[in-house]
Amino acid sequence: MSFQFKVLKEINEANNKARLGIIKTTHGIVETPVFMPVGTQATIKGILPKEIDELGFSIILSNAYHLFLRPGHQLIRECGGLHKFMGWDKAILTDSGGFQVFSLGRINKINDDGVTFQSYIDGSTHFINPEKVMEIQMALGSDIAMVFDQCTPYPSNKYETQLAAERTYSWAKECQKYHNRKDQTLFAITQGGLFHDIRKENCLKLIELDFPGYALGGLSVGEPKPLMYEILDHIVPLLPAGKPRYLMGVGAPESIIEGVTRGIDMFDCVLPTRNGRNGCLFTGNGKISITNARYKEELGPVDQNCHCYTCQNFSCAYLRHLYLAKEMLGPILGTIHNLHFMKQLMENIREAILEDKLESFKRDFYNNYLVQEETT
Ligand SMILES: [Zn+2]
Repeated sequence: MSFQFKVLKEINEANNKARLGIIKTTHGIVETPVFMPVGTQATIKGILPKEIDELGFSIILSNAYHLFLRPGHQLIRECGGLHKFMGWDKAILTDSGGFQVFSLGRINKINDDGVTFQSYIDGSTHFINPEKVMEIQMALGSDIAMVFDQCTPYPSNKYETQLAAERTYSWAKECQKYHNRKDQTLFAITQGGLFHDIRKENCLKLIELDFPGYALGGLSVGEPKPLMYEILDHIVPLLPAGKPRYLMGVGAPESIIEGVTRGIDMFDCVLPTRNGRNGCLFTGNGKISITNARYKEELGPVDQNCHCYTCQNFSCAYLRHLYLAKEMLGPILGTIHNLHFMKQLMENIREAILEDKLESFKRDFYNNYLVQEETT
């Protein structure tokens, strides 16, 4: 068996359900809670796979929908699979594209059979359904594949949400039927928007299908964060204790901490890398915009306490100059710093769980970290 998950420690307090775990994949071990950097186009923008490895990441995320449209999953299979194609030999999770089909493409037709949509790249027409989505991900050869789901936007009414949740359930069953790659595991995605009753029903039905892992989809799509946390409070306790729980599209440091304390094991988000490219850098005191005039003559690093390559070698003044001059090294150094920040955050969280100090860690984090409004 190529996929295994083991809970090493679980806290069971009223406001703290955090757990430490380990995921075994065909391409190595992943310690949880984990943050997965996003490499949508088979590359994490602005950083070498070697550097991702050196930063200590053991799993990254890529996207079936994007790779299906370009360069095509058959080509990637011919090139030896996604790991070989992109030069990354550790674990990869591929999202099915359910979210992208409904948010990026122009939908021509959607029904229980699948979705006909136009490519956002060249307007060409495509049809995908659970069988196709499994074919794509099996060709890519990721370690963890995701079922095809229908993600509802925020806000959505109850009728639309119910319909999408039911479709997600029947598509999950279909995906299970067509998925047959032994060195790849398949996770389910629960939907149901912000409706507690739909979420619960969808979740319980999916649990009956006995998937090796469960993701919460359709969150972090623009809703106020307290509403997302409420859903986690409601749904996470229903999920099987012995299987990984993955909160999709969430990566703001404060949301990760809130997710972890509610028992989430896995996170992914474009936020750290996208912010890095835009000069929005994470520090222990919150985010800073490095292009701000206040950093013009700042000779110190972005974060005094950061041990990343960027902070060890460059001043804020230099970074600001690179961004303003539109030099490509600016986004590269910003990405290295932000990913290092995320890696360190997850290590600190795991250490705090191990030492029963998560509550004080959380308190210290909020005392220092200025939370700014951002959707994810
Ligand atoms: Zn740094």
